[in-house]
Amino acid sequence: MNRHKTSQELFAEALKVLPGGVNSPVRAFRAVDMAPRFIARANGPYIYDVEGRGYIDYVCSWGPMILGHNHPVIREAVERAVKDGLSFGAPTEREVEIAQLMVELVPNIDMVRMVNSGTEAVMSAIRLARGATGRDKIIKFEGCYHGHSDCLLVGAGSSALAGGHPTSAGVPQDVVRHTLTAQFNDLDSVERLLEANRGEVACVIVEPVAANMGVVNPAPGFLSGLRTLCDKYGALLVFDEVITGFRLALGGAQAYFGVRADIVTFGKIIGGGMPVGAYCARRELMEEVAPCGPVYQAGTLSGNPVAMAAGLAQLSWLKSHPEIYSMIEEKALWLAREFRALAENHGVAVSINQIGSLLSPFFTPSSVSTFVDAKGSDVGMYARYFAGMLERGVYLAPAQFEAMFLSAAHTEELLEHTRVAADEVFAAL
Ligand code: PMP
Repeated sequence: MNRHKTSQELFAEALKVLPGGVNSPVRAFRAVDMAPRFIARANGPYIYDVEGRGYIDYVCSWGPMILGHNHPVIREAVERAVKDGLSFGAPTEREVEIAQLMVELVPNIDMVRMVNSGTEAVMSAIRLARGATGRDKIIKFEGCYHGHSDCLLVGAGSSALAGGHPTSAGVPQDVVRHTLTAQFNDLDSVERLLEANRGEVACVIVEPVAANMGVVNPAPGFLSGLRTLCDKYGALLVFDEVITGFRLALGGAQAYFGVRADIVTFGKIIGGGMPVGAYCARRELMEEVAPCGPVYQAGTLSGNPVAMAAGLAQLSWLKSHPEIYSMIEEKALWLAREFRALAENHGVAVSINQIGSLLSPFFTPSSVSTFVDAKGSDVGMYARYFAGMLERGVYLAPAQFEAMFLSAAHTEELLEHTRVAADEVFAAL
């Protein structure tokens, strides 16, 4: 029998042919100063490494696996689709069906354009905002991450932040001079920029729940305040719902918070694990996009039939099981409560943020409601917490500035296992 290679062996080989041994930086486990586990398969709430060890997975492929891994309904939809061919580069019925479903479930959108990643969705949304308003400047928030397109890699969160390069090399100054950076949960910082750049700002783009600096909830009135400011200054409001879409609620953050956005971007969840993104808006905006209008955007594999089958199966399942949202939220609430109690018992300074099925522990005694608060977390302590949990079979985001994702597959028994692991780990911190 062939002996399977270990994670360590695979990583050594990977380092020779992939930068950092990975195809996306966070996977390299650098922020926690470890070597990554190579994953062989995943099922339900578990992922399994090549050594055959199973872990309760709270990364969930960074969000898409809201039903757990390898859900039979999605897998079967993909298997059926594959039989008909992998890509046509031509329109299909499934693309129309998934767009119809998204328009039905998401408030304030009439039309959808499918792309292949969250990055592409946001990059295209910005182009649309600029094309439609005839303005060049955009406002983003420090510590929010919107994918790796040039103009958004300024003060970025996620692994750009963890890796020490929130503003990437290789992005011309000329490109980023149009990107203005405000502070999350600080409306004055937004208004100052809008005022100083009157008539020049195309859009304000925000993660309605900041989830790439760890999870930071919007303060009451923050999102509605952005709406008011955008209306006052003639800028479009873009909700980047790559994480919150179909996760906070079926209608995403717009439905959850009751705030209307002009353009909404999606990724992750709408592909059910396949590479998909989308940007959406009302008709008059979307008809600015080619072939209707002058804003060009295209994609050879966009609306790929296999990806659409997975996405359609997942969104249809969510639509017919809306009860899962309160179910998962309760699990996250329970975990947040238990973690707080454990931290107090063991005298560990932890501040837990939770909303819907997203949560984050920050290793700081103060509450975290801004990027500056989030950055105050003790990342060394996070690394020790991560390592301790991994050793006990719990797979968390390998960096502080990420979210913990819950899925419908996380049972009470697994939550209890997680609590016991955290009890031991907090005791040792
Ligand atoms: N926007 C947000 C809010 C994200 O969290 C991410 C990825 N984590 C992206 C955009 C980029 O998506 P992708 O990695 O699919 O390009």
